[in-house]
Amino acid sequence: MQYILDASFFFAENHLEGDLWTTAEVAEEIRDHVSKMRFAVLTAEGLKIGGAGPAEVSAVKEAAEKSGDLRVLSETDISVIAFGLATGGTVVSGDFAVQNVCRHLKVPVKSLLSKTAKKKVWKLLCSGCGAEIPAGEKDCPICGSPPKMRGTEKRANGN
Ligand SMILES: [Zn+2]
Repeated sequence: MQYILDASFFFAENHLEGDLWTTAEVAEEIRDHVSKMRFAVLTAEGLKIGGAGPAEVSAVKEAAEKSGDLRVLSETDISVIAFGLATGGTVVSGDFAVQNVCRHLKVPVKSLLSKTAKKKVWKLLCSGCGAEIPAGEKDCPICGSPPKMRGTEKRANGN
């Protein structure tokens, strides 16, 4: 399966098995350190860079104009959709306008669901017996051992 990744793929922790492609415009847009690291790792694993010709780019702009998405699409978005149109690959995007234009052009699209943001919550656990040490207590009220920190994953939305 050929996938064409838009920039949003690199902005979060995403995994996809297959023949992975992106465009030069996407590569250009990836600036922050963590996203660049992900890009480098995927490149080492075989991510390739391609691009569509002017005919596909025009076709995408025309379709986006009709669907009303053109004003919210960046040149990067357009490059990704156009490459999908040129190759028949599946566009991977978290952007609603990109997904919409793909549907209009009958370009297969896989919507990228942004994973629920998680934040770490630190708890103090006893290094001796493992009991949770209440906030404000210096040592374990049960056995007197000093605490150790342990991070637990908790979803930011409270679920
Ligand atoms: Zn204890």
